[in-house]
Amino acid sequence: MTTKLDQELSQEVSRRRTFAIISHPDAGKTTLTEKLLLYGGAIREAGSVKSRKAAKFATSDWMEIEKQRGISVTSSVLQFDYKGHRINILDTPGHQDFSEDTYRTLTAADSAVMIIDSAKGVEAQTKKLFQVCSARGIPIFTFINKLDREGRDPFELLEEIEQVLGIRSHPMNWPIGMGRSLCGIYDRHKTQVELFDEDDHDRIDLRPVSGYDDEVIMKMAGESQFKQLGEEMELLDVAGDPFDMEKVAKGELTPVFFGSAINNFGVQTFLENFLTLAPAPTPRKSDKGDVTPTDSNFSGYVFKIQANMNPAHRDRIAFLRIVSGKFDRGMSVRHVRVGKDIKLSQPQQFLAQDRDIVQSAYPGDIVGLFDPGIFRIGDTLSGKGEFRFDELPTFSPELFSKVTVKNALKHKQYQKGLDQLAEEGTIQVFTSVGFEDIILGVVGQLQFEVFDYRMKHEYGVDIQMSRMNYQFARWIVGERIDPGKFRINSLLVKDSHGQYVALFENEYAMRTAMEKMPEIQFFATAP
Ligand code: GDP
Repeated sequence: MTTKLDQELSQEVSRRRTFAIISHPDAGKTTLTEKLLLYGGAIREAGSVKSRKAAKFATSDWMEIEKQRGISVTSSVLQFDYKGHRINILDTPGHQDFSEDTYRTLTAADSAVMIIDSAKGVEAQTKKLFQVCSARGIPIFTFINKLDREGRDPFELLEEIEQVLGIRSHPMNWPIGMGRSLCGIYDRHKTQVELFDEDDHDRIDLRPVSGYDDEVIMKMAGESQFKQLGEEMELLDVAGDPFDMEKVAKGELTPVFFGSAINNFGVQTFLENFLTLAPAPTPRKSDKGDVTPTDSNFSGYVFKIQANMNPAHRDRIAFLRIVSGKFDRGMSVRHVRVGKDIKLSQPQQFLAQDRDIVQSAYPGDIVGLFDPGIFRIGDTLSGKGEFRFDELPTFSPELFSKVTVKNALKHKQYQKGLDQLAEEGTIQVFTSVGFEDIILGVVGQLQFEVFDYRMKHEYGVDIQMSRMNYQFARWIVGERIDPGKFRINSLLVKDSHGQYVALFENEYAMRTAMEKMPEIQFFATAP
């Protein structure tokens, strides 16, 4: 028998879309996000998202970072409604704020939007973020931005996406001209042209056509562009990948959209297609099998913990991705790892600058829970029954620092802080074999700064960090590991579980070691 709750759940789940925007800094993530929020009427004027980026920070003072950037460091989700859909955009910070949290946040998304600058193509950070999404097999939608500028040839860009990222692509629309000669985009599926008007961003000028060979396009674009479009479309029809929803769903084919975020050109078309093609909240794996969103039992997992969100209260926020059931403020849930029931009385949801108190939420939504220090990344909360969601993936550190405590008398607190912050996932901790030096590994500089700040303010310990030259970490497994073989351009360390990890200065050193020791297996993360 379907109950009222079942009905409510299936309705709420089906209208939700939870996704992350992945891109290299400057590709246009802020601009696109802002336009999307404008469509949802969630912000009053353009510029609101921008201000969250604030000025570049040069200080390692965490509170300063907080103050300057307001919620941008810490906010995790922007929520808005559009034509009956409820949309959650997970915020993945830019390069200065890059950290393991960025990667973990991606695990809370059901799909991703990848923005590519048409002049630059696939850039380093896009590639890293893409790989994390790709490993999860979630659908990835591509928005090729800045068509109003002279960019690279669209075919070349598609080729690069396929070569560098290893995903097939299907252009949903195609530019007619580019840069100064940009005339519009031809929608291959709806057979219509969206005309480009640099001066009027509010008007979306859609013209139905009978196909790319419609004379109407010639009148709009002129003979040479009309001819070029015809040739390019024929080539795509013959040599391009056909649209295949199943492949999109598995993350094997990316639908590609062209546009110019700043000119609000191609944005609405993109949004509407995205909402149709992107999945509603998807199930998550647990030790007792898949947990489906429409399951009436409430459940969720913590994917990120943010310390010191509010300098006045020194609180922490644990970000929970709701997987199933309905969340009601004040409800009691099982905290599975500690085996206790807890009351979720202070959940907060984040929209632009404001912190709102949430009364209820549904699968796909993210709520911020007040955390007096009881949560860890990966924790499962369940309304009824004990099960655990699969552990969150770990990521290979790329930056390393040796750390020492300034005052030897504080060694005990130092050790406590080190253990707790490592357990929380703030940093990864290694010990050098033979020297017993403590080495921190991270994926982004911000993690070092947060570690330093929290050591000082939460544990009262001043530390000294010195950057090391290593760039790669490989967990090594083998019958017999000879530390002597890891002396040149590399360092042998142990992780917190006592497993051997080799740090390398460069790719060459890593390859050489791999070739010299075929009997040993190398893993980018703990096997
Ligand atoms: P983010 O770092 O990815 O968030 O990028 P921003 O949204 O801040 O954009 C970076 C720069 O590119 C800004 O100066 C934007 O104004 C500009 N920009 C964004 N979209 C477009 C576009 O469609 N065309 C042009 N010409 N510039 C754009």
